[in-house]
Amino acid sequence: MIPERLRRKLMDDWHARRKEFCDLRHEFHAYPELSNQEYETARRICEKFAADGVSYRDGIAGTGIAAVVQGCDGPVVGLRADMDALAIREETGLPWASRIEGVMHACGHDFHMAAAIAAGLLLHGCRHELPGSVKLIFQPAEENGPIGGALPMIEAGVLTDPAMDAIFACHVAPDIPSGKVLIHDGATAAGVDNFIIDILGKGGHAAYPHKTIDPISIAAQVVMGFNAVVARTVAAYDNAVVSVGNFQAGTRRNVIPDAARLEGTVRTMSDSVRRELKARVENVCRHYSEAAGGACNIQWVESFQSTINNPDVAMLAREGVQMFLGPGSAESRTPPGMAAEDFGRFLRCVPGALMWVGVMLDSEMNLHSPVLSVADAGLDNCVSAMLGAVLAFLFKGK
Ligand SMILES: [Zn+2]
Ligand SMILES: [Zn+2]
Repeated sequence: MIPERLRRKLMDDWHARRKEFCDLRHEFHAYPELSNQEYETARRICEKFAADGVSYRDGIAGTGIAAVVQGCDGPVVGLRADMDALAIREETGLPWASRIEGVMHACGHDFHMAAAIAAGLLLHGCRHELPGSVKLIFQPAEENGPIGGALPMIEAGVLTDPAMDAIFACHVAPDIPSGKVLIHDGATAAGVDNFIIDILGKGGHAAYPHKTIDPISIAAQVVMGFNAVVARTVAAYDNAVVSVGNFQAGTRRNVIPDAARLEGTVRTMSDSVRRELKARVENVCRHYSEAAGGACNIQWVESFQSTINNPDVAMLAREGVQMFLGPGSAESRTPPGMAAEDFGRFLRCVPGALMWVGVMLDSEMNLHSPVLSVADAGLDNCVSAMLGAVLAFLFKGK
């Protein structure tokens, strides 16, 4: 149980320093940097920790940083924030809109960084009262699948010295009401496998299709087959998607081409469905192609694994979040979306939870939109969720 006196002190400290962190968030927003180029962003993060006397290590897998708030003896809880922006031209017209042409923090990573720094510095101020330590991880290249930034940091040793007993991350969610936090008990973001399929037929005159092996006709059946694969392979209560986003074939109306190309994505929430669905996609391709006398070539580009929360840690996080944002603020029942998150790689190594922090907007704006504009209240929600989850784990059973 988180001591009420500590909770109140942290909230008082937050309100006293709120403007500093809102300004910092605006600064991150105004100067976004693309994946693996987060140099100025990293410099600014280090500056904030140095100013408050928090020890940190930078240059982990490029621009990654790990800072440690050293509390009393006890568990170590991780808090991860992502640092990169997107190649999107901002159209918000905000006073702190991007000053970097063609680059925008359109996925809320400016919020995640400012909130993690704020949570870290506030906890540092109370470190003598913490029954454990907090490790703050800033990872580059979250948007840069399939490599991302989590795996390079893990390979560079970020999971050791000190090792973590649990890890949390927040992601702002414009489709969830402000003040609500969604923390699932299991899968919370999809695994992604992208494919490039070449259907190989035999071209010829469109007036004599019987003398050809028509790859367009085969590819059209393959696309329809994919839809049936999801409906008849995946349980109705499980989630999976096979989508074709690019279908290219032919050059003229009266020529049947030699080949057709399909590009698309398979999104799944569990490793078993992932394996099964990929095998089925290959079967559909191969059998439709062979049935028509053609052939196919399938290339897979595997990206992030699904992000799977640990149910026990997720439950603790919901309890902690509700201490900061009020009863009923944390929930688990809304079904997960099919987006992907590089944080899933950390969760394969350390039990933890990704928290979707509601910052619902008036309009239909969503992540990766050039007009995404999230109010500063989103920062209050992220900081509260981070403090709640971290402290709930540190004070577990106390
Ligand atoms: Zn994103
Ligand atoms: Zn994101």
